[in-house]
Parts: sequence; structure tokens; C-alpha cells
Amino acid sequence: MKPVIGVLALQGDVREHVAALEVAGARAVTVRRPTELAAIDGLVLPGGESTTIDKLLRIFELFDPLRAAIAAGLPVYGSCAGMILLADRVLGATHDQQTLGGLDVTVRRNAFGRQVDSFESSVEMAGVPGGPVPAAFIRAPWVEEAGPGVQVLARTRHRGASGPAVPAPDAGPAAGAGEDAGRIVAVRQGTLLATSFHPEITGDARVHELFVAIVKE
Ligand code: GLN
Repeated sequence: MKPVIGVLALQGDVREHVAALEVAGARAVTVRRPTELAAIDGLVLPGGESTTIDKLLRIFELFDPLRAAIAAGLPVYGSCAGMILLADRVLGATHDQQTLGGLDVTVRRNAFGRQVDSFESSVEMAGVPGGPVPAAFIRAPWVEEAGPGVQVLARTRHRGASGPAVPAPDAGPAAGAGEDAGRIVAVRQGTLLATSFHPEITGDARVHELFVAIVKE
């Protein structure tokens, strides 16, 4: 039986996640209403703008039900803004920004700075066999600190290893030269999976395959 995996469809690149989930062997459905949560085995929180998705979650009355579902063990994969939404703590949040939480990490928003706020790279990811995963970083966060129960699955490459370009000196306090290397960009805690990057726009469904396997566990 194919697991049914929802994609939160309030904002962000919903269609690409639906396509990647289908390739990865799931039946993908969009989720906009609280009642739709009961019908899914897992959920993807897509990239977009975490502040906007946070507001829309509350407008659509999904915030509390989703928080409760995560606390009750619903498997969730958050990409980019989705990672921010899963984080228990956020650096660079707007004053009224809330997260669903569940993942014992501190995430820094827009961590890679102005100069390299978007770039493509590839990352070796634990649990994803077959070589480095192509990864699009779009105004991406990184995990600044991960709690003891959190498994670090991937870090950015070090300089000279075809990783992200070195940011300009004025790229902001969080992204001085070289500080973007070795950063945590994929984590797992139980049935929660999060990546700083977008794997759904690179035509490689292996991260989604990992999530489908987590949902099937
Ligand atoms: N910078 C965005 C935020 O803070 C995330 C970007 C993305 O999801 N591509 O929500």
C-alpha cells in the first residue's frame, strides 16, 4: 500500500513536492484544511516564506491542529521555510513569528547572507545512498544548534569542494568568509526530517524516498 503524504498547500512550491513524492512511491495530496490532516500518513511543509506560511496556518485554522498532530507523532518533512516551521527555536525571526516546533534545533533564517542567498550545491546526506544529493539553497536557513536527540544528516561542503561561493565580507554577521562551510543543512529527529535546501526542484527524488521510508516505518 502506498502511504498517503500531504503537502501543505498554503504557499510555496507545492507542485514540485507532489511530483517528487509520487516518484518516491507515495500518493500525494494537498492539505489546506484541518479535516484533511486525518487522512494523511505524513506531511511535507514546502519552502516559501516561513513568516507568511505561519500567518496562513493561523488564518486557515491549521496551526493548532498541526502542532498537535506533530506532537502526536505525525511524520513531517520540512524543506527550507518548512525547516524553520519545524524548529523549536529561530534566530532572525520576525517579532510575531511562531513555529509549529517539534524539532529540537535552533535555526538561523537567511543564514547564508546576501551574497550567496541563493546557490546550488550538492551534499552528502546520511540515509540517502547513491552519492551527493543536488541541493538548491534559496535564501536558506541553517541549523545553528541541534539538541542531543537530533541526528545531523548533512553539512555544507568545505571551500574548494565545489560548495557554495565564499560570501563577501559585508554579507552579514552570520556569513563571514568561510563560515558557510560545514553548516548543518539536514537533520532528523524521530519521524521529523528537515533540510535547509530544496531537493524537489533538482529532479532527484532520493530525499523524498527517505521521507517515504520514514513514513512507512
Ligand atoms: N528565507 C525564507 C524564510 O525565512 C525561506 C526560504 C525558502 O523557503 N526558500 O522563510
